[in-house]
This record gives sequence, C-alpha cells and structure tokens, in this order.
Amino acid sequence: MDKAQLVKELIKIFGEDSVLHHVEDLMVYEYDFSIDSNRPEAVVLPRNTDQISQLMDLCEKNKIPVVPRGAGTGLSGGSIAVRGGIVVSLARMKKLVKHEPKNRYTVVEPGMVNFDLSNEIASTGYFFAPDPASQRASTIGGNIALNAGGPHCLAHGSTTNHILGLELVLPGGEVVKTGGAAPDRPGYDLTGFIVGSEGTLGIVTEATVKIMKIPEAVQTFLALFHTIDEACEAVAQVIGAGIVPAALEMLDKVMIEMIERAMNAGYPPDAGAVLLIEIDGLKEELGDLQDTIIDICRRTGAFDVKYATSEEERQKLWKGRKSAAGALGQVAPNFYLHDGVVPRTKLPEVMHKVMEIGREYNLVVANIFHAGDGNLHPSLLFDAREPGVIERVIEAGEKILKLCVDVGGTITGEHGIGTEKQEYMTWIFSEADLETMRKVKDVFNPNDTANPWKVFPTRQSCGEVSLKMRILKSKPGMEEAWI
Ligand SMILES: Cc1cc2nc3c(=O)[nH]c(=O)nc-3n(C[C@H](O)[C@H](O)[C@H](O)COP(=O)(O)OP(=O)(O)OC[C@H]3O[C@@H](n4cnc5c(N)ncnc54)[C@H](O)[C@@H]3O)c2cc1C
Repeated sequence: MDKAQLVKELIKIFGEDSVLHHVEDLMVYEYDFSIDSNRPEAVVLPRNTDQISQLMDLCEKNKIPVVPRGAGTGLSGGSIAVRGGIVVSLARMKKLVKHEPKNRYTVVEPGMVNFDLSNEIASTGYFFAPDPASQRASTIGGNIALNAGGPHCLAHGSTTNHILGLELVLPGGEVVKTGGAAPDRPGYDLTGFIVGSEGTLGIVTEATVKIMKIPEAVQTFLALFHTIDEACEAVAQVIGAGIVPAALEMLDKVMIEMIERAMNAGYPPDAGAVLLIEIDGLKEELGDLQDTIIDICRRTGAFDVKYATSEEERQKLWKGRKSAAGALGQVAPNFYLHDGVVPRTKLPEVMHKVMEIGREYNLVVANIFHAGDGNLHPSLLFDAREPGVIERVIEAGEKILKLCVDVGGTITGEHGIGTEKQEYMTWIFSEADLETMRKVKDVFNPNDTANPWKVFPTRQSCGEVSLKMRILKSKPGMEEAWI
C-alpha cells in the first residue's frame, strides 16, 4: 500500500481531523528525549477502542508497524517509529471512566495524564500512587507500558503493583480484557505480563487501577551532607533501621549547583549531596520516625537537616528535585538521562565510578536518583552540535550501565528498554530466557506489527556493532522503508 492510499484508509477510520501526515505535523512525534529519532508515515488520534481495533486490523493485514504513544517522555526510544509506520497518539482518550472509592479502584482511558488522575480523585480522599517525576505530562498508558516508578514507589511499589485490569487491542484488532476489579482472580496473570511490555503486545485502551487513601500526615526532610558517601550511608542506615520512607531521593553536588543556578531552590552550594526524605502515615506514628531519621542523618554526617512545617514548605523542599530536568535544560543544550539500578550497598562505589566515566569521556555528569531503591539517573550533559560528542555520550552511557550490571544491578529501573538498551539485554538474560520471552510475545504479536524493533536484541551481540547501529538509527533518513 502506498502512502496516499494508506492515508485514505486512515481517514476512513478516524476522520480528517484525526490523521496527521504532513511533515511539519509529524516532526512533533519523532522524538522521546532519547538519542534515537525518526519520522512516522502518519499519526492517528483515536477517540475510542473501536477505531484502534479497525487500525490494528488494517495494519496487521498490510504488515504496517503501529507505535503507541502517550506523552512521548519515555526517554528510551519506545514511542519512536524507528523504521516508519503509524504512531497512535492516545492523547484524546483521556477520560476517567469510573471511580469506585469504596471498592478502591478507578477505571481510566490510557491517555489520561498521571497527575490529572490523582487530582481528579483527590476530593474523594484517594490518589494513584506511582508518581514518575514526569507525572505532569506522562500518561497512564505510558506508565503501564514502561512499568513506571517514581519518588514515592519506594514504599508503594511501581506501576505493576497498582494495575488491576486492562483492555488491550491485539494486532489484528481483537479486543481482550485481562484481570479486573474483583480480588484474587483465577487464571494466568496476563495483566502483570502486559505491564512493562512497552507496547509490543498491543495497545492498552483502558486500565482499572488501584487507588490509595491520601495519608493523614506527611513529613518531609531535606538533609544536607558534605559528601555523597555520607548521604549513601544515611540511606543504608534509614532502611537498615526498618523504616520504609515514602520517598528517599538524592541529588549530587553537580546537580545541586545546576538547580541553584537555574532556579534558586535554596540548596547551599557547598553541599556535596542532598537527601530528600518523606514519610507518611498516621500523625501519631510520624513523631518517633522523625526523631530517628534526624538522628541517623546527623550521625552519618549531615551538617543540616531541615523539615517542612506546612504544605507550602514541603512543596518548597521538593521544588529543586521536581525541577531538575528543567535545570539541566537551562545549562546544556542536550542531556542524556540514564536509568540503571544497583544494590543500595554499592551506591557509593558506583557513584564514584560514574564520575570517573564522566571524566574519561570529558562529559559533565549530574546525578539525581531514587536512592532508596538504588535507581540511578546519571545525566550526561552535552551539545549535540559538537562533532563526535554523540558517540562519546553513547559509549559513556553504555559503560555506566555495564558497571551497574557488574555490581549486581540491572540496565533499567523504570524507563524501559525501547531501542536504547535492546542490545544490552544479553548482559542480563541468556539466549534461552530471551527466546522464551519472544515466544510469549509471538502469541500476542506474531507478525511484529505492534511496536516492532524494540526491547529484544537485534541479535548482534557485539557492543561495537550495537553502538554503530544506534548512531545510524539516530540519523533521520536512515530508516528502512516498509511501504
Ligand atoms: C523529566 C523526566 C522525568 C522522568 N521521571 C521518571 C520517573 O521518575 N519514573 C519513571 O518511571 N519514568 C520517568 N520518566 C520516563 C517517562 O516519563 C515515564 O516512564 C512515563 O511512564 C512515560 O509515559 P509517556 O506517556 O510519556 O509514554 P511514551 O513515552 O509516550 O511511551 C512509552 C512507551 O509506552 C508505550 N505506550 C504508550 N502508551 C501505550 C498504550 N496505551 N498501550 C501500549 N503501549 C503504550 C509506547 O509505545 C512506548 O513504548 C521521566 C521522563 C522525563 C522526561
């Protein structure tokens, strides 16, 4: 099918106002903050499941790649049409379908923005716990596809712990429902399998999500340390004391300086590390916990521990953390944000090595991360106009992730594999592991029309080949035509 005919077919299903096919409209959908980028042939904006079902049928019959997209903040290339095809923007499917506070669940469409969900149900006393730092933009569909985490997932668990049921449109157009609101459902846990599958099994068109009671009380602390080692020791001791804070976030010196330069959040520039700790629960419980946390921070070397006495002060303490991406954007034209995981006890060693890698590749690295669960986010700052810098950034990132794996960690905590890390899957899975995953994927998506060329290695195991391929893929115009 040629492009003109394809556009005609799409307009039949979606109507003129819901099909984008001019270059200037498509450019917006080329990118997701990762290194890779590519332009799709068309973008469709469905309003309901039936339209998606018709699209999946059309694409399966014609072997056209279909790439679901929420807000495009994924950072790992998952929502990029790497070799063309149709991007399905879920932006118009953002309704709250049903809210059942007494039964502790809410049903939403996938394009609903994470922050809007919690806001919409707040007046009933509930919230949706997963809170990626991108929550003001990212969608529930994207959160599900990447099994998103967030500052508050240390205590409450990542997205997979909060999804009860899904509606999924399979390649070919069949609509299936998995799980549901009723507890202890029998049969295979297909919902658990779909969460984190990065759009490679089909398109999620509705989600039944677990909701949690807004805690009676919240206490937030900002502990300032001279060194990252001291802050890491505080993290280890807080967790070791049996306390599971709602959030435990760390910022390193470079990040602190950048945040201060960009927005003056009130972090002292001489601090070597900042720890943001939040606890929540019943009012009566928090007093003792508060004393223990302050004591641990002081014993491990904190030179100051501030805590919020009002919601306004709490928001102020969070301001720097939540504005970090904006701060990076103000000091460098480009940044590449990585997402490795290491055992908590390895944090100090790994942090030092990450900085060494930065020096080796002559790149500034700023760190902000979910310290409580060992989820690192080193951001490599660069200017893409500098010749050769992309190669350096990719190589440095690869070394950082290898380091995480070598100390017993893994290659992603929450941003998914996408195109960014597919070649690194062989570092953590055997060929038999991967083959088993492929076989299950084939049951849902036998012809690879649902988000193809993602997640699985391209079967080129050599690091150098993978690097070269990724650089090629990042250049617009190198895509293989499928039409
Ligand atoms: C500044 C910043 C901070 C971030 N902080 C965090 C964080 O703290 N925690 C975290 O986990 N992530 C974080 N992220 C990464 C990202 O925002 C999240 O993982 C988020 O869940 C992606 O949602 P999205 O709507 O943007 O998805 P997209 O980027 O649009 O898509 C992501 C993947 O989901 C698939 N997909 C989207 N919708 C559907 C659907 N309906 N059905 C099937 N597949 C679908 C896409 O094909 C793609 O593979 C951050 C990103 C940025 C830019």
